Amino acid sequence: MHEPPVKKVLYWCEDCNVPLIAKSCACGREGKRIELLQPYDLRPALSADHDLISRLVRERYGDIPLAKILLLNKTGGVDRADLVIMHGERLGWLTFDPVNRKFSLDITPEALPFLVPHATKGIVDLDTHTDARKEQGRIGGKRIPLKIPVPDGTVIVKYKARYGTGTVKDGSIKVKELITVTPRSLPDPGWDVAIDRNRYHLKNLERNAIRTIKHHMEDRPTVNVSFSGGKDSTAVLHLARKAGVTRAFFIDTGLEFPETLAFVKSEGVEIAGKAGDFWQAVEKAGPPGKDNRWCCKFQKLRPLKLYLAEVGPCVTIQGNRWYESWNRASLEETSQNPDNPLQLNVSPIRNWRALEVFLYLWWQKADMNPLYEQGIERIGCYLCPAMLESEYEQIRISHPEYTKRWDDFVESWAAKKGLPEAYCRWGLWRWRKIPRKMQELCRVHSIAVNEDLTIRADPELVRDVRKGSMVDKPQEKIPEAGIQGAGMKEPARDMYDLQAVRRDFPLLAEVVYLDNAATSLSPEPVIQSYVEFERNYRANVGRGVHRLTQIASQRYWHAHEKVAGFIGAKEGITVFTKNTTESINTVAQGFPWKTGDRVLTTILEHHSNLLPWYHLGRNGVAVDVVGIRDDYSFDLSAFETAITGTTRLVAITHASNVLGVITPVAEIAKCCHDHGALLLVDMAQTVPHMPVDVAQLGCDFCAFSGHKMLGPTGTGVLWMKEPVIEPLLLGGGVVESVKGREFTLSEGYQRYEAGTGNISGGIGLGVAVDYLTGLGMERVHRHEQALTTRIIDGLRKMPRIRLYVPEKPEQRVGVVSFTVDGLHPHEVAQRLDEMADIMVRSGHHCCIPLMERLGLPDGTVRVSLGPYNSAEDVDLFLATIEEITR
Ligand code: PMP
Repeated sequence: MHEPPVKKVLYWCEDCNVPLIAKSCACGREGKRIELLQPYDLRPALSADHDLISRLVRERYGDIPLAKILLLNKTGGVDRADLVIMHGERLGWLTFDPVNRKFSLDITPEALPFLVPHATKGIVDLDTHTDARKEQGRIGGKRIPLKIPVPDGTVIVKYKARYGTGTVKDGSIKVKELITVTPRSLPDPGWDVAIDRNRYHLKNLERNAIRTIKHHMEDRPTVNVSFSGGKDSTAVLHLARKAGVTRAFFIDTGLEFPETLAFVKSEGVEIAGKAGDFWQAVEKAGPPGKDNRWCCKFQKLRPLKLYLAEVGPCVTIQGNRWYESWNRASLEETSQNPDNPLQLNVSPIRNWRALEVFLYLWWQKADMNPLYEQGIERIGCYLCPAMLESEYEQIRISHPEYTKRWDDFVESWAAKKGLPEAYCRWGLWRWRKIPRKMQELCRVHSIAVNEDLTIRADPELVRDVRKGSMVDKPQEKIPEAGIQGAGMKEPARDMYDLQAVRRDFPLLAEVVYLDNAATSLSPEPVIQSYVEFERNYRANVGRGVHRLTQIASQRYWHAHEKVAGFIGAKEGITVFTKNTTESINTVAQGFPWKTGDRVLTTILEHHSNLLPWYHLGRNGVAVDVVGIRDDYSFDLSAFETAITGTTRLVAITHASNVLGVITPVAEIAKCCHDHGALLLVDMAQTVPHMPVDVAQLGCDFCAFSGHKMLGPTGTGVLWMKEPVIEPLLLGGGVVESVKGREFTLSEGYQRYEAGTGNISGGIGLGVAVDYLTGLGMERVHRHEQALTTRIIDGLRKMPRIRLYVPEKPEQRVGVVSFTVDGLHPHEVAQRLDEMADIMVRSGHHCCIPLMERLGLPDGTVRVSLGPYNSAEDVDLFLATIEEITR
């Protein structure tokens, strides 16, 4: 990396006794040079820091007058490590020990002229405390045993009218260089004088920064300030307002200090919300780390994308500075984040150190976030992994209600993973891979680190989080009737608790899932149900008498009952299949066809509801296909014309998986029965999303997929009013009795479920039904309808978008198909994934005849909703599409 153009020294006016931000002082004197340490960011010690340093000095050496102006030069260390500068000299090192949770100040020999005249304790006189006189040669650098005990730490050493510093450890003292000390006392001017002596240079800094802002503020149609509530962005806000910028925004991560939010409001800055649910994501992803800042994406970048989508192309003035970190040391005047092509970033104070920022704000008498004076240096989320443990310790005192939640989480995470106490106590959670400086600490304290530098878990340490005890048997018996999802506690409300529901779906912490028409996600209770089956009572069903088979059979049977109840099936047979496709094929193959019979279906159908009938066509059963109207609605009059006395079966979808259009099943059923035909309805896209009552609808068969309704994959359902069809398969489980070569088939679903089925899947499907029932299908439908309208309205406003949706909200489910002019649907889907982790389907959706009818050989992009999708999901989707179309 090339050397950044940063200042590596501090100048100090020895006449005025103030720090200088340039070489010369307003008094005319050239400053003396003080070498600084990487990353060379200097800042004033504010009240809390000043108090801390004073306390440490007082505790160790007595009442020593400290200068009002103390500067801190942050450097690398295990945790906080600041070089403290006073009177233009290095006073000492302020460090924090994350193991003992203590601050300490190690003084330097340069500090002695200011300390020695006042020190009343913390002095080790080698003559009285040791047998130094007996030592041969130089004392400096030697470790000498102490005769009188002295607490461990840094001390002032006195020996034959000379002074030095020394370190006491384990009953002996190691003396550094001994020197002759001439007491010094200097004027104590305070920060006002420092501002005055630097005024000329501050004006220069201001002028240059404003010039930079003005130079770029018209590069895009809008200009704004990105405000974080911290000092740098406060300075930038101030400068930008002077340059004529009026807009400023703050991204509320949802993990902000109350003081920050209040400050943002007081500055008249627009607050952009819509951050992800951190507490949901963290359950899955684990604590974020300095080297694993996954949280930024959810809490900051996505809300920013949403905000920018509303604002459009803009210039954003930001407060990034070279000195903040090595990463930022090459920051140019303007920069472009490839993830946000709408935004051109301008960094007008990139060459300022924190010292310049504070001096400027004080000079301007600008308000500042009060947290700085409380000793918090890094304003941001209150649990940011990039924070030092020393700061977090401070927040534990100032904001205990905030840190408690986080501490509880980290502890429960460590307990679950079997991580040692130090993971929480020393803040080791702040890294995914333990950096070198912490590896040493771990080695010394026998904390095992894996080869990949993660902290080694110990299975012995896995603790049951709820009981606080060691777990010897990880599985816990879940009473079946008690399986409840989070969002369903108060069924009387208009809407379920969406955030709580989302927390039941771990994958939602990672992606925006908008491919529900293909398959849905499963909530925790469903996942738990099949884990429980495997662990506690796995057995075959319907056979044998042992206790496991009894539990399994009972639950499997009960799952059928629940599913039947869910679709309003008071009579008939509810059969578990693999999926909708198997259900429809079972009817096609088992139906008592006669020569001359006809099947009537529609152009809207999924291949699952077309190919089985086309196949029959080869065996002499004719297939008629009715079309749709130009507004995508079902053409009832064409249907009425097409149905004849020889039509034995009508097979239609309840809702199209491409257009989302709902068909008028009740009217169709009536028409079928008038013509003596039976009706099969493909309900794959309705049962998961709206209340369905097969009795009311009047159908004879219905087919749907368990995996699209929060259930496990490999589950589906065929319901039939009468058992008029032959089973597809024969074998174990389907017979009542066998006599010679004769056999009697069972009644009920067993007749159609030959062989061992997906038992845990079926039971899981029952739990999915419980879950959906808990949410309330009316509420699910209403919620998804509102989101569908939001998607359609949003897309309608965009250029280059063509929509394929029914006009009336009551005619559609949460499936929206569209195309983008000039882009292949797969390209759009790919970009949605890459740019914003949004999962949508693209292509022909197993509906090639419909695509031909629509004239769309490449198919469409399809967004499809589930009960857990949120307005934020939709808005992020819209914002990303807008970016793609731009
Ligand atoms: N019918 C419709 C309307 C569908 O949407 C789907 C799945 N996209 C199917 C049938 C087929 O479902 P499965 O793959 O579960 O058999």
